[in-house]
Amino acid sequence: MSLSGQPAEVAPARPATGRGHLFTNGTVDDYRQVVAAGIERVATRVAGTDRPFTGVTPDELAPGVAAVDLDAPLAGTAAALDELEDLYLRDAVWFHHPRYLAHLNCPVVIPALLGEAILTAVNSSMDTWDQSAGATLIERRLIDWTNQRIGLGPAADGVFTSGGTQSNLQALLIAREEACARAVVPGVGPTPTRAELLPRLRILASTAGHFSVQKSATLLGLAPEAVVTVATDARRRMDPAALAREIERCQRQGLVVMAVVATAGTTDFGSIDPLPAIADACAATGVRLHVDAAYGCGLLVSRTRRDLLDGIERADSVTVDYHKSFFQPVSSSALLVRDRAALRHCTYHADYLNPARAVEERIPNQVDKSLQTTRRFDALKLWLTLRIMGPDALGDLFDEVVDRAAEAWRMLDVDPRFEVVTRSQLSTVVFRWLPGGECGPADGDLVDAANRYAREALAASGAGMVAATTVDGRQYLKFTLLNPETTGADVAYVLDLVAAHARRYVREHRPAALSCPV
Ligand SMILES: *Cc1c(COP(=O)(O)O)cnc(C)c1O
Repeated sequence: MSLSGQPAEVAPARPATGRGHLFTNGTVDDYRQVVAAGIERVATRVAGTDRPFTGVTPDELAPGVAAVDLDAPLAGTAAALDELEDLYLRDAVWFHHPRYLAHLNCPVVIPALLGEAILTAVNSSMDTWDQSAGATLIERRLIDWTNQRIGLGPAADGVFTSGGTQSNLQALLIAREEACARAVVPGVGPTPTRAELLPRLRILASTAGHFSVQKSATLLGLAPEAVVTVATDARRRMDPAALAREIERCQRQGLVVMAVVATAGTTDFGSIDPLPAIADACAATGVRLHVDAAYGCGLLVSRTRRDLLDGIERADSVTVDYHKSFFQPVSSSALLVRDRAALRHCTYHADYLNPARAVEERIPNQVDKSLQTTRRFDALKLWLTLRIMGPDALGDLFDEVVDRAAEAWRMLDVDPRFEVVTRSQLSTVVFRWLPGGECGPADGDLVDAANRYAREALAASGAGMVAATTVDGRQYLKFTLLNPETTGADVAYVLDLVAAHARRYVREHRPAALSCPV
């Protein structure tokens, strides 16, 4: 098939009635053909991508999407897929491409795609056993498997979620409820009311922690100043001494620390907070510890770096994102808890769904543990991944990208065109282009603008994609390496492009800043 021309696959025309579109025992042949046609389009696209992106702009794509008459269906599957080529597939951002170096998006493994195809067709819903027979048991095994890898102990439990944001929200909801159940506030009497307590609750996280912690605090009705940031060391890891001081300060001021959120793999710096020392500080002060391992969870299957997570087994709850470092498609995440009783804070009963009686009857209704009701069987993707590939093969892939990031860091460290920030413990690299080592200090705003421009120009060309962030108020660029296919040569190629774009920007705006050739 040519990408723009007539598709070679035989896709059935639109059945005469809506009923013909239902997936039933009478339409399995259509199912086979239609889904195969879609798979063929994606496969052809992926085989032909030579860049991670086309550089398309929202303004270029929007008219085509707006012009579609959603009340007037096309003649059939092939026509709809043709249209989709133009509106989506041709210009999609391809995470499998080795020069996609931007965000925490991984290329996905084929066993997980198989799982995705199966789970969406069977369409189990994980809320109750009577909508998910078998699936519930598979999800529970994977929660137990993950808990064993973490070392959370015999009472541990958890549930799959839509992502790290939701996992963190649920962890902090549990922490809030636990704090409300236990808190004693000096000067407020032995049992403060919820109204007295909520404004006093605090969450301690490092300055490099994830913004979903702040979002969760707001959703949970906490005060705007509820998230207290704790200083980090030079490698952007939470400073345990600063943490102990903050806990002490909060307690002295009559505030209640409902949780410390340690990050095992910060989004920008790939830094892992010192978990044993943080766990000590929490244990000494009776504070709940949540470990956000949305990114670093891949180390759970690493054969060479598992020790970087030492101390995680002392957490009260843990967030993992299989869709970041387990090479799973979005969405696939979980919240794990040390004490299964903690999940009771998420348990509500409805006569039409999960009556309280079901608990006594030992019917495993996962909705009792979840913030969601109807919920995908995302666990199946990880299940088939483990059954087909096994954990070592997954961990080896993650180890490879961590090695690649170290290599990229070394390249940048000796390259006079760039300044590179602290070396990541995982697979990010934060750096920025500078107008040249021997040229004297250049204007900070100009350098910021040149780096911003370089990133945008690179994306517009589609030749590579990098992310951006700020460090100490200055504009930096970031690689997040999650593709084992990315080579040192890919990294070098993208760096040359970044430097060329940035130089062009400075040449056009302030040529004097380029006083020497680089
Ligand atoms: C990505 C990330 C999250 C949020 O996870 P989503 O799956 O995007 O919702 C939370 N914490 C950290 C450290 C992350 O990197």
